Amino acid sequence: MRLSVIVPCYNEEGNVKRFYEETVRALGDELMRDTELIFVNDGSRDATLAHLHEIYESSEYHVKVLSFSRNFGKEAALLAGLRAAEGELTSIIDADLQQRPEYILQMMEILDTHPEYDAVACYQDERKEGKLMSFVKTCFYKVIDSMTDVKIAQAASDFRLLRRPVVDAILSLPEKCRFSKGIFAWVGFETYLMPYTVEERTEGTSKWNFWKLLKYAFSGIISFSDKPLIISSIVGIILFCIAILMMIVVVIKTLIWGDPVAGFPTLCSLLLLLSGVQLLSVGILGQYMAKNYTETKDRPVYILKEELKK
Ligand code: UDP
Ligand code: MG
Repeated sequence: MRLSVIVPCYNEEGNVKRFYEETVRALGDELMRDTELIFVNDGSRDATLAHLHEIYESSEYHVKVLSFSRNFGKEAALLAGLRAAEGELTSIIDADLQQRPEYILQMMEILDTHPEYDAVACYQDERKEGKLMSFVKTCFYKVIDSMTDVKIAQAASDFRLLRRPVVDAILSLPEKCRFSKGIFAWVGFETYLMPYTVEERTEGTSKWNFWKLLKYAFSGIISFSDKPLIISSIVGIILFCIAILMMIVVVIKTLIWGDPVAGFPTLCSLLLLLSGVQLLSVGILGQYMAKNYTETKDRPVYILKEELKK
């Protein structure tokens, strides 16, 4: 198999059929015969699965339909797709046609003509989102870059084409909290950054909102860095030092001048001292726990309910 195309789908009833038709048209019959389309139905609650079944029944090409028992998120869908992919090249693309399938051909051409590259990642040449959103995203990437050793290409999307060794490297990471942008950067390899234009979503709605993105950003930082824990320890130490200083000041003031309301500052400094020590110990404990917690639970990233393959 030359190409695997992974398509995560969550409530995309208005898009999947059109996506299938346009992909077949874009890739052409010859390439399609050597391509597998892997649709991952991420627990859609609309008619997406029924539409995928229809595509599966009527298609003359290789189509796989993996269906989750509930919504596990795009990251889980990507992992399932990568595990199922058999192609020498693997592409990841959204089902909503915001990423045109024609770009897959361009990415293939880059890898064909540049053997030194192992992957192509598309980035938006102009961001179509609001000013606030793009500001928040820029801040997030600055924070994560300063906290982790891996450099996450800021604008690069999940719309990618990967050679087999890259896919194998990604699959070799056993972690359960999967933050793809970090994983793509962590496995290394030479990645070509290709600009592309994002289309407007014509059917359905985006599954991301501000809070979901914020949660995603935090989980990304936690997955790729233990600095938050170190920071909490440092804050603890600083509070502790301030409290000691305050205590000394209170004692000296009382001894020399005899402070009439000494009870209040004593309370303040004690409170600071205690919360400082608490933060410090929680930080240290957390460092050990965070390492173990996710891995020891060892739950699968997703549950497959149905798997169709042809
Ligand atoms: N998606 C998914 N599971 C989810 C959320 C999204 O499989 O829990 C899929 C979705 O169907 C789409 C892709 O991930 O194919 C990108 O989602 P979306 O278009 O909502 O993101 P945006 O383009 O707004 O960043
Ligand atoms: Mg989209």
